[in-house]
Amino acid sequence: MQRTLFAIVTAVSALLAAGTGYAQNYPTRPLTIIVPFAAGGPTDVIARIVGENMSKTLGQQMIIENVAGAGGTTGTTRGAQAAPDGYTIMMGHMGTHGAAPALYAQLKYDPARDFEPIGLAAGTPILIVGKKNFPAATLKEFIAYLLANPGKVNEAHAGIGSVSHSTCTMLNYQIGAKPTRVAYRGTGPAMNDLVGGQVDYMCDQIVNVIEQIKGGQIKAYAIATTARSPELPDVPTTKEAGLPAYEVSAWNALFAPKGTPKDIMAKLTDALGKALADNATRKRLLDLGAVLPAKQEQTPAYLGEFVKKEVARWQPILKGAGESK
Ligand code: ASP
Repeated sequence: MQRTLFAIVTAVSALLAAGTGYAQNYPTRPLTIIVPFAAGGPTDVIARIVGENMSKTLGQQMIIENVAGAGGTTGTTRGAQAAPDGYTIMMGHMGTHGAAPALYAQLKYDPARDFEPIGLAAGTPILIVGKKNFPAATLKEFIAYLLANPGKVNEAHAGIGSVSHSTCTMLNYQIGAKPTRVAYRGTGPAMNDLVGGQVDYMCDQIVNVIEQIKGGQIKAYAIATTARSPELPDVPTTKEAGLPAYEVSAWNALFAPKGTPKDIMAKLTDALGKALADNATRKRLLDLGAVLPAKQEQTPAYLGEFVKKEVARWQPILKGAGESK
């Protein structure tokens, strides 16, 4: 009996020691960041920029794995179910960790319960954009055209519950538009079709639309923030363009699976903080129009509370728009 107990105690201490040593040496191999949308889209771009700098701090490569599908919920489920060892983390956002629970009755993860928050990465204002030859020059004309042509105008989005889907759900509801909604595996591929003219409009994050707006490949009708973006000074706010009620901005954040050891979490949060303090990384994000979280918004605790608030905030918005489960 005593011998068994001794054996168990020894085994447990050995495990604990191994656990500590493991965390101290962490990371000893490359990390994977799951991006729950197609490559080239906003979530992917932010993950690559932030991940590149984090890999310098962590001394290991950060591999991006695009697991697209079901508005980001497929990849997010994978992120929640990954081994909590610090080697698989994910880039979530206002859709996967805010809007999705209101839209999926069978969602296989809980944005607050099933993750350890690492921290906010970047805020991304939403813009209403249209294809280059869309027959409307201003937001007012755009709205009038949508209302005059129900079902005939195609809106592109990244799947039910994604940022583009939920923010355009809000827009369509507010203005009373009934477009044909076309789902993509991310707004990267959706942007290709908007530039090609196969779809008519979308609501998307600034980092994914800025180059095409500047290059004149698409039209920007408005930015849904209180002030204009310094990167797009010619694009009016929704308030200036006559739709003050439409104000919405997205956020992107890194999460680890629930149960990831605390000391590993501390290293991940530290690496993210260093990335957000790095001038070159900041510049890359700011040049794309992203808004960087303030220092006090960069803590895991802040993100944990924020996710709960976001899930609660989106429920009535999407329910009101007749879209909830
Ligand atoms: N984050 C985008 C969205 O939710 C999709 C993407 O990154 O491609 O609309």
